[in-house]
Amino acid sequence: MDLQTGKLYWPTTLLNPPTYNNLEENIECDVLIIGGGSSGAMCAHYLADTGLDIVIIDKRRIGYGSTCTNTALIQYLGEKTFTQLINSFGEENAARHLKLCKEAMIEIENLSKSLGIDPDFTLRDSLYYTSYKEDIKDIEKEYSFLDKHGFEVELLYENEIKNLYPFKKNGAIYFKNDGELNPYKFTVGLIQELNNKGIRVFEETEIKGRDIEEKAITYFTTKGHAIKARHVIIAAGYECLDFKREKNATIVSSYAVITNPVEDFTSWYNRTLIWETARPYVYMRTTADNRIIIGGLDENTKYVEQRDSKLINKKDKLIYEFNKLFPDIKVYPEFYLSAYYGGTHDGLPILGIYDGLPNCYLLMGYGDNGMVYNMVLSKILKDVITKGYNEDLDIYLQTRPILHKL
Ligand SMILES: Cc1cc2nc3c(=O)[nH]c(=O)nc-3n(C[C@H](O)[C@H](O)[C@H](O)COP(=O)(O)OP(=O)(O)OC[C@H]3O[C@@H](n4cnc5c(N)ncnc54)[C@H](O)[C@@H]3O)c2cc1C
Repeated sequence: MDLQTGKLYWPTTLLNPPTYNNLEENIECDVLIIGGGSSGAMCAHYLADTGLDIVIIDKRRIGYGSTCTNTALIQYLGEKTFTQLINSFGEENAARHLKLCKEAMIEIENLSKSLGIDPDFTLRDSLYYTSYKEDIKDIEKEYSFLDKHGFEVELLYENEIKNLYPFKKNGAIYFKNDGELNPYKFTVGLIQELNNKGIRVFEETEIKGRDIEEKAITYFTTKGHAIKARHVIIAAGYECLDFKREKNATIVSSYAVITNPVEDFTSWYNRTLIWETARPYVYMRTTADNRIIIGGLDENTKYVEQRDSKLINKKDKLIYEFNKLFPDIKVYPEFYLSAYYGGTHDGLPILGIYDGLPNCYLLMGYGDNGMVYNMVLSKILKDVITKGYNEDLDIYLQTRPILHKL
């Protein structure tokens, strides 16, 4: 898959990242993780203390998949609202999902603080505003569900928003304690720590074929080397779909710009993460070196030429959308990108366990909170591998039942 195009920002924030060898021999292990992005790193993190022999391989350099275009707003509410998830999965399952996401965010925060390479994790509140006047009823309902289940939220109306920000909106939900980080540094830093603990890592090593036996699976690299494993985690991001088609998964094209550093954020209350009720939506955050990331304006295309031909226009449009909210902040795009962006039709990420692929697990944390979803799935997967089951598995399996289609 041609995952992304453009002038990428995150790799410029870490000069001389650690490097790892290509695989040049046949090897065996207990758990093979295909994918050295943030999700592969998270799986290895949870399995690191089990005594299992773990190998991570990646066909690119570590962190050079979607991890290095991820704009990394760390949130639990996603594109499908709590209200919509309740309609699809029932209140108990939807609430459990959001709670697992909140726990995963705390785990990401704690892990970030422990790494030798600091990934700049910062707690940030989020503002989720109404794009249209008529959305006010929806966010009132959404707020009441969130409040009932103990999430730290406030409902703001026009006057309160006007007192905090330079723009007028009818209403908003204000979320306390979401976050932001640098996903490339997080992944490179975490894999470095895991490698120091003895987990073997191979870069620029591509998997092409496999041979499945009763008790072991052998995957082959393009150079013809074999990796025999008892369990295989396919943490290949959107390229999991090259390993197995999944009808609930969707791929669209998305865009982002990263601006020049800004000196004065006085008008941007608390440097909150900002997004809106429109779908597709525009979102924004700030970075540790005072840049602004603005993203969104998704297009429903999977064709790379169509995706990339719109980039020039989209980068101007994103700046325009930003200045509609903050006319006093003068910015220009220093970095910009177009990228594939995965989601699911029903709004929940997928842990894929398929009949024809025994002891293989596809980690598809697809959706706008992909990083958080992958952390949730990685934790569940640890139990599935070491104990055979986790009580939350059924929420995320690809076979989950849906009450009402959205
Ligand atoms: C523009 C954009 C904005 C986003 N914004 C957010 C956000 O604000 N918040 C959030 O939580 N999430 C966001 N996401 C989602 C987030 O980026 C992803 O969920 C996350 O980075 C995926 O990490 P990953 O490790 O699963 O995938 P990747 O980083 O793509 O890693 C998978 C790895 O598998 C390797 N691989 C694939 N096939 C093979 C093979 N055959 N052999 C060997 N290796 C292979 C690839 O080289 C790759 O490095 C965003 C995504 C995009 C594109």
